[in-house]
Amino acid sequence: MDKKYIKKMLSEMDKDLSKHGINRREMMKLAGITGAGMFMGATGLNAAEEEKVVKNNAKGKIVIVGGGLAGMSTAARLTLHLDNPDITVIEPQENSVSYQPGQTLVAGGVWDKDEVIFKRDDFVPDGVKVIKEKAIIFTPQENKIVTDKGTEVTYDYLILAMGLHLDFERIKGLEEAGRAMSAGKNERLLKALGDDGICSIYTAEGAEKTWEQMQKYIEKAKAASPDKKIKFVFTHPSTPVKCGGAPKKIMYLANARLKEAGARENAELTFYPNGGAMFGVPEYHDAITEQFKREGFKWHYRHNLVEVDTEKKIAVFDAKWQEKGPWDPVMKNYEVIPKHEKVRVPYDFLHITPPQLAPREIAESDLGSAKGWVPVNKETLQHIRYENVFSLGDVAQVPMGKTGGSARKQYKVVVDNLIAVMNGKKPEAKYAGYTVCPLITDIGTVMLAEFDWTVKPTPLVPLDPTVERWMWWLMKVYALKPMTMYGMLAGRA
Ligand SMILES: Cc1cc2nc3c(=O)[nH]c(=O)nc-3n(C[C@H](O)[C@H](O)[C@H](O)COP(=O)(O)OP(=O)(O)OC[C@H]3O[C@@H](n4cnc5c(N)ncnc54)[C@H](O)[C@@H]3O)c2cc1C
Repeated sequence: MDKKYIKKMLSEMDKDLSKHGINRREMMKLAGITGAGMFMGATGLNAAEEEKVVKNNAKGKIVIVGGGLAGMSTAARLTLHLDNPDITVIEPQENSVSYQPGQTLVAGGVWDKDEVIFKRDDFVPDGVKVIKEKAIIFTPQENKIVTDKGTEVTYDYLILAMGLHLDFERIKGLEEAGRAMSAGKNERLLKALGDDGICSIYTAEGAEKTWEQMQKYIEKAKAASPDKKIKFVFTHPSTPVKCGGAPKKIMYLANARLKEAGARENAELTFYPNGGAMFGVPEYHDAITEQFKREGFKWHYRHNLVEVDTEKKIAVFDAKWQEKGPWDPVMKNYEVIPKHEKVRVPYDFLHITPPQLAPREIAESDLGSAKGWVPVNKETLQHIRYENVFSLGDVAQVPMGKTGGSARKQYKVVVDNLIAVMNGKKPEAKYAGYTVCPLITDIGTVMLAEFDWTVKPTPLVPLDPTVERWMWWLMKVYALKPMTMYGMLAGRA
């Protein structure tokens, strides 16, 4: 994108803002991003805020397991807040800090894969030690961890930021894919997905492949006809997922590219979510439903992908519904009978959002909950059983919290509360459940869905949050990456 293009976009953005009586600088301030940060990759922390940091002399050995976005940002912020920090990060992946939110843009042909890959070693804060191994045994009763290479690591304080696993192997027909991680080496996954229309944006390589497959099937749509449409199928599983909007964003991008190619009327786009709504917040659900109608998408709720017949190109869903049963004279109501059946759906292009779960090592340790995630107090982010343990990011058992936007709020809470505990005080900082999903609805428009545990829209900028805007597209494409990579990962934004 050249300067002329950016200038044009900025002027469009200014026009949009002026209709609402605010200018760009005010908008950035409200959004918590400095004007410079928006387009020049600054940190998002202004000088005044930086001066306020008073270093604390709390002592203790801190170990952070997982050096992805949440873990490395926490390490960075701790180095800013402690005068003599002793911090070790355990992280095996060399590209652990890669920019996952950008994978959607890679899959839509907006960015190249190289624009989202970042090396862990370039983001290790000064003074922080990194063990490039995988933690496999946790003994919290003895404050001890053992890695896959047999290294024993002890700690006074532990922060768990291990993200989540992509459980492709749970889908019959894709067992060979195994479990993957967004930042892992994913040859096995790519091989299992093959080259015949199945793809997933949940890894960087997968995002690149999604773009390849999308182009291939857009070409087929160009050669098809309205009565013999090419079938684009998109899934959303029954587990929590990181970035709940991503399964739909990729559908909107495929739609945009089909329109651009003049092939939209020869394609059918259908969304199969496991849930019974487009979004947990009713206002966003209504807005998305209207967008789906406008774009001519089809959708079928309560469909969970359980099997893929890659030979015949059939996706098999477990479809659920309820039927009215006999009258219950005690409850004075009709019984509800849950039903389900397998539904076979032919596809040409299939985008899979895989089931997602906590890493096995943590799920099977005393630090995991029955569901695998790390059970923490949802406000203080302190472990419910071990006072010297905190958790944040995708692995933490926090409602609606699996986005970089949530991690951005959580890591400051963890740092404040950890330092309080190190000083023998109670953790008092609170995470309020804020999260954000920049829902790409077209090339050039985003609906910025911000919300928290109130399940109400919580827009930081006082504009109707259900409206798709060009300026949020600008923020998504130009501002959020520098803010994340050079602000958050520096412990500041
Ligand atoms: C396609 C896609 C689109 C997204 N879009 C958005 C968006 O628009 N907005 C947004 O806010 N968020 C978005 N996200 C979500 C966001 O990227 C994640 O929520 C965020 O990266 C979570 O950070 P994390 O540190 O918890 O996990 P990760 O960044 O995944 O890091 C976890 C790290 O832990 C390491 N680890 C795991 N197990 C072990 C172990 N046993 N020992 C040592 N280390 C271990 C892993 O190697 C990994 O590096 C998106 C994600 C994807 C995949």
